[in-house]
Amino acid sequence: MVYMSRKLYFSAAHVYRVPSWSQEENERVFGPCSNPSGHGHDYTLEVMVRGPVDERSGMVVNITEVDRVVGSFLDRELDGKFLDREVPYFSERIPTTENLVTYLWESLEGGMPGCELHRIRLRENPYLYSEKERGSMIKLTRKYHFCTAHRLHAAALSDEENLRLFGKCNNPHGHGHNYYLEVTVEGTPDPVTGMIINLTDLDGAVNREIIKRFDHKNLNLDTVEFRELNPTSENFVKVIWDLLAPVLPQLSKVGLYETEKNYFEYSGAPYGQGVTA
Ligand SMILES: [Zn+2]
Ligand SMILES: [Zn+2]
Repeated sequence: MVYMSRKLYFSAAHVYRVPSWSQEENERVFGPCSNPSGHGHDYTLEVMVRGPVDERSGMVVNITEVDRVVGSFLDRELDGKFLDREVPYFSERIPTTENLVTYLWESLEGGMPGCELHRIRLRENPYLYSEKERGSMIKLTRKYHFCTAHRLHAAALSDEENLRLFGKCNNPHGHGHNYYLEVTVEGTPDPVTGMIINLTDLDGAVNREIIKRFDHKNLNLDTVEFRELNPTSENFVKVIWDLLAPVLPQLSKVGLYETEKNYFEYSGAPYGQGVTA
């Protein structure tokens, strides 16, 4: 089985609004997304298909065919539209990225040309995307940024060994990074709000537990988490999981870019279901 992914683009406007709620209630739950006049996004859709490689063509599927099927669907149903007003599916559902992914999955699943749909990933902006993979629930990933200093130093090793192992990163005065954190939650979108978790609650939890704690700090000197623990990004990504899991029951994955080149990822046991390792 080979997996192939193709990116397509569309633009659409929408409002997040439950008609039976007051304007205040809509604003409280959906924030600026509740503006009745609407706002819009340039969406990036990644369609991943899978299948055996055809012996004659050497391909899983002709990309032109994927473009034809998916592109014509986007042209007809979504591109350039006001989702809540013009797409019947969203007349009674909030057009969140989670619900859009469900709609795209249901619409495209049976119709891929000679291959199987494996994953739909929809990016609303560089800091938010939602996805569905065959056999799993909807996921939502939100990206955050913070800047932090650290010094890599293992207490169990001699100074010489630390210098050899960590090189410049062992500098006693420390050095710093622009960290980018991706927090992924997984679940069934709420039937009323269309969200796995309210973005305000997700942002609040990450800001409180992670950003406030670590942004513009020195991990070794300013945080209790790394008083004894070597602040490698392997350890950092696990610390972040352990801080978020108790306040985010839907937490599925934590991804940490230490630099653009170095990425670390961790999924521990859901909170209350065993010790993370
Ligand atoms: Zn929006
Ligand atoms: Zn470093």
